[in-house]
Amino acid sequence: MAIKAGVARETAPGERRVALTPESVAKLAAAGVSVLVERGAGEAASFTDLEYADAGAKVVTTAVMYSQADVILRINKPSASEAKLLKSGQVVIGMLSPLLDPKLMAELGEKGVTAISLDAIPRTLSRAQGMDALSSQANVAGYKAVIMAAEAFGRYFPLLTTPAGTAKPANVLVLGIGVAGLQAIATARRLGAQVRAYDVRPETKEQAESLGAQFVTLRSIADGSGQGGYARALTPEEQAAQQAELNDVIGSMDVVIATAQVPGRKPPVLVSANAVECMKPGSIVVDIAASELGGNCELSVAGKTIATSNGVRILAPTNVPATMPTGASAFYARNIANLFLHFVKSGELDFDFEDEITAATVITHSGSVVQAATARLLETANAGGARA
Ligand code: NAD
Repeated sequence: MAIKAGVARETAPGERRVALTPESVAKLAAAGVSVLVERGAGEAASFTDLEYADAGAKVVTTAVMYSQADVILRINKPSASEAKLLKSGQVVIGMLSPLLDPKLMAELGEKGVTAISLDAIPRTLSRAQGMDALSSQANVAGYKAVIMAAEAFGRYFPLLTTPAGTAKPANVLVLGIGVAGLQAIATARRLGAQVRAYDVRPETKEQAESLGAQFVTLRSIADGSGQGGYARALTPEEQAAQQAELNDVIGSMDVVIATAQVPGRKPPVLVSANAVECMKPGSIVVDIAASELGGNCELSVAGKTIATSNGVRILAPTNVPATMPTGASAFYARNIANLFLHFVKSGELDFDFEDEITAATVITHSGSVVQAATARLLETANAGGARA
């Protein structure tokens, strides 16, 4: 019997993406997988049930999808009530954030559910690049952050010479030159802004310059590179020196797009309250690093836009990719279809734990937590609990 994949209707607040698009249904069908789509799953991303049916999927109720699907494809981790619907032997694939919610992984493991997380992909492995949803969604976020800034900004981004006079180009600073930052630079440049960019990893200088940005070099920190292409957490002294130097740069900027992250840590504060005080009225900060943990701007409030007394607006949107659901879902769907098909051999599900992608992304299998990082985290938590 063909493997049945189910497409979940997302229920997280504000989520508008869908894990599989009609285009990717066709791709799975070509590999012998039949697809069940929970009714209305693609609606918020402008994919109709009819389009899924035309692509060869069966549109079904929530109860039928959860009871019949062998593999459930989704964006976010299941809610508590969705997790209850999962049963032994079923597979769930999505951005499950196992390191942020290891308890859910332990529960799914105990239940006999195989949980596979797209955010655990070994990103530097070239054969995994087509599965890298962190990158595809960061790309959307970097683009959309600039569009949000342009929308909020009261002036033009480009230099404009018109009979009514000349408009100066906007000065945009991009902080953090990873995937989102590079796309933000490219987008701000396309809109005609003058762009400066800063990152603690020295290799980003050339990348930023190749997109037409001027790199900001700070005297206080020579190299903040960590492992695997990510940044390291800076020492408190380095952070203070970095903020002080950045204050001078930020004061002369019209727009700051902040994207800096350190894996597993609170995002670094790069735009201090003092820096915001130095900005001119009408300036905009878009902090896409912001979450409940805090953001790159000291004044960011996750999910909110605040206006300061000196006329600066600070936007701290969370889940930016969900605000561009059709484009973001199209990328995500290709990522998840590629990862899913990695586990399909001769029409059957097959998990080879010698394989690097499988070992990294399969978090629970055969009744337990099998991914090393999540298992370690749970052990530490359990040991702490036993001591307490
Ligand atoms: P990220 O989201 O973890 O962080 C965004 C940026 O913030 C990074 O460039 C980081 O250096 C920067 N940052 C962190 N602390 C900072 C500070 N105090 N000051 C200034 N900048 C700071 O990064 P990401 O976008 O996920 O990318 C991380 C790395 O992974 C990059 O090296 C990227 O090229 C690499 N990557 C490689 C592949 C691949 O090889 N196929 C795919 C995706 C990403």
